[in-house]
Amino acid sequence: MAFTRSHPNVLAGPYLERAAHWRKDEERLRAALDDPATWFVPVWQARSAIVTSSDGHTSAYFATGMQTLAGLDSNGFILLGEFHEHVVFAVALAGETPPALTSGAELHDLRLIAGELPAEEAGLLAYARAMVHWREHNRFCGRCASPMIAVQGGHVMQCSLCKHQQFPRLDPAVIVLVTDGERALLGRQPSWPPGRYSTVAGFVEPGESLEDAVAREVREETGVLVDTVEYHSSQPWPFPSSLMLGFTARASRTDIDLSDEELEDARWFTREQIAAGEIALPTTHSISFRLIEDWYDGGATTPLRAEPGVRMWQLPKRGGG
Ligand SMILES: [Zn+2]
Repeated sequence: MAFTRSHPNVLAGPYLERAAHWRKDEERLRAALDDPATWFVPVWQARSAIVTSSDGHTSAYFATGMQTLAGLDSNGFILLGEFHEHVVFAVALAGETPPALTSGAELHDLRLIAGELPAEEAGLLAYARAMVHWREHNRFCGRCASPMIAVQGGHVMQCSLCKHQQFPRLDPAVIVLVTDGERALLGRQPSWPPGRYSTVAGFVEPGESLEDAVAREVREETGVLVDTVEYHSSQPWPFPSSLMLGFTARASRTDIDLSDEELEDARWFTREQIAAGEIALPTTHSISFRLIEDWYDGGATTPLRAEPGVRMWQLPKRGGG
């Protein structure tokens, strides 16, 4: 099993003191909101704010001081915790047009920029994005349809009428590297750029264990049957609210059948084929790449990342605004 606390996946790791004990302390929250040392992480229409220095380094943009945000139409604050000795709140920015942030900050989809940021800042922006998404999609009570009110530092949405409480939710998804010993099973969706292949993935359904979901997804998408299923590691994936649960599995029947048509192609690949660049691999900050990399490095003399012929899928260059 991978020792993930010392080598966390991107967007994971102990980068933050979540300070859960503060969430019910109204006085302390109020003081932190007014403190000029407090940092605010803006999220607008699922976009995260970054700044790029003159030497080309990208970092997260933190607003400071409530007055910075006074002119912005905000939907309130969510306590994230303590980060580098600063209390940090996510702030959901409203409006149909991009908010005017100071200091040359730009708003981008975190999925496109996560790999450019320092890992702990990427994690913090992912957390902020996930919380803002959850809050914006729980504005009304699921029981009586009355407006919800944020309480406990933004971590609970409570019905203004029936007092029903809603807590942040995740969608668990399994992602699995299947091997037959020497080869890895990789597939591609029709919408993907030509040549890009990745591991099998899918959402866990009610009534399933994780290992049930692994076996079902592999069988549905590729026709391959698996017997042994082992946990590898996990990755927060707030696009919009997934938790990716990574596994490896061993095939007990290797015949491929694409009859459910979710995948356009699925094949068995050897390390030599991957090293030769026959396919483009997922982005290096994804857990799918990590699963492929750990399998590859376990049976090769040269690490995957050091192979000159390997092709990694390059994300499109980010656009403006
Ligand atoms: Zn209600």
